[in-house]
Amino acid sequence: MKIVLDFDDTIFNTHCLALESVKIFEKFGFTEKEFWSAYQKCKEQKGDFDLDILIDSAFNSKKCNYLREEDLLADQKKIKEEMNILFYRASDFIYSDFFEFVKNFNKKDLILLSFGTTDFQGMKIKNSGIIPYFQEIIITNKDKTENLKNILKNYGSEKIFFIDDNAEQIDKIKEKIPQIITMKMERLQGGQINKKSKLADYIVKDLNEVKNICKTGA
Ligand SMILES: [Mg+2]
Repeated sequence: MKIVLDFDDTIFNTHCLALESVKIFEKFGFTEKEFWSAYQKCKEQKGDFDLDILIDSAFNSKKCNYLREEDLLADQKKIKEEMNILFYRASDFIYSDFFEFVKNFNKKDLILLSFGTTDFQGMKIKNSGIIPYFQEIIITNKDKTENLKNILKNYGSEKIFFIDDNAEQIDKIKEKIPQIITMKMERLQGGQINKKSKLADYIVKDLNEVKNICKTGA
């Protein structure tokens, strides 16, 4: 058996991290809307989160509030420090059921497959402290189907489970590699909860459900 887990919104509470990021920006006079609009600009420019771009685009609209350039630079530096401290404690945002979940399986059967296009994803995963629980950590900037085809090539004789909150990704995989057992994660705070999968074998709301399915289906 191999269990392939997604990171954001599957084992990591991305929503909570975003809320805390917003709180930091609010301390510097930004509204939640302004935070999300700067975040959107990161997505457009880098395809993913990038702290420098986030800070630059947020402060772009606030420049006229600063009489002196050095005050602007000082605030940018402070916000960057606070955000880095927040990212440093990424382990606070791992869903607690993850630690119970891993006790039930052999490390050699666990693979993390995460989407990310910037260094941020690797840093977040490293700071979250979950690396020692996995046999393999894969960060891809493409469709996960290719990675799963490779996993299937290496472990084709075993059952392969894939758990992700992204409905589109689940459906693509199920369409191309039907023998993979897919579970769509629907955490209450997950960003993709309203996007429904057409092909997922199971809809789950936490890792306890995942555990039960893997145990009985293995
Ligand atoms: Mg995800």
